[in-house]
Amino acid sequence: MTVADGVYAWIGAGGDSNAGAIDTPDGLLAIDAQQYQRLARQFREALTAKTGKPVRMLIDTHCHLDHTAGNVVFADVPILAHDKTLTALETYLGSKSGAHWTITDYATKLRLLFGQNIFELVPESDPAQAWFRQRISLPDYDTVTIAPPTETFADRFTFRLPKETVHLNYWGPAHCDGDIVVHLEKSKVIFLGDLLFYGRFPWLGDCDLNGWIDRLARVLTLDVKVVIPGHGKPTDLQEVARFRTMLIDLRDAVAKAIKAGVSEEAAVREVHLPQYADIPRYKDWAPIDVRAAYRYLRGT
Ligand SMILES: [Zn+2]
Repeated sequence: MTVADGVYAWIGAGGDSNAGAIDTPDGLLAIDAQQYQRLARQFREALTAKTGKPVRMLIDTHCHLDHTAGNVVFADVPILAHDKTLTALETYLGSKSGAHWTITDYATKLRLLFGQNIFELVPESDPAQAWFRQRISLPDYDTVTIAPPTETFADRFTFRLPKETVHLNYWGPAHCDGDIVVHLEKSKVIFLGDLLFYGRFPWLGDCDLNGWIDRLARVLTLDVKVVIPGHGKPTDLQEVARFRTMLIDLRDAVAKAIKAGVSEEAAVREVHLPQYADIPRYKDWAPIDVRAAYRYLRGT
């Protein structure tokens, strides 16, 4: 869909990961690459059909599999990401087979999708693992091939186009280690990657919760009309503020339990956020998020 003149968003079906593109005189800047190659090819074909222009570069907002497993479909152009995204992929995936990483084992795939601590949060013996297992049960996930970013930056990177200035900003760890936001100054559009999940309860995984809340405060200071989340429909800064409040409420509820001497297991059972109970995924993810927040706040 077109979200501003020459700015496109590809909204993942059923809340799957989003992608986008920015039209420039030298071709398209694609933003994120979808969760497997078949979808990435559909995304790229849709871009060509819509604009008739070639892709000149792919930007990865962060390292997670659902945003990078399609990189390989864009490996003929430069792939730009934050230094920490490349470092994370190198650390998590080890040595490459040729130019790309090839992942076939379930544990590595799941860690790259849900965070490195997923098996500490949801042990393999936990019945809740069933949901995670089905999440990547499509044949498209049998062998995941990841092409690495070919160009990286620290802090920020700017595209100065004739009619637009595109800022790639890194403000520190948040949803993961290398989250960048793509801000189009004149169009007043921002691609937030997974700093925002719209229409579902967030997944904390191995996030830096305080960092995430701080980064969103920074987003709220920008002059922005359209916000493209990492998952869910395009929205606005009001929704960013609501989502940030949800993270704060979750953090504060867990902090209160810790202060009262409540054990981790008791907190997982007893900490509830009834005001958010109707949001999709709340029932399944809130207890896991409470555990993640408890360990984060305790520094364990
Ligand atoms: Zn993510």
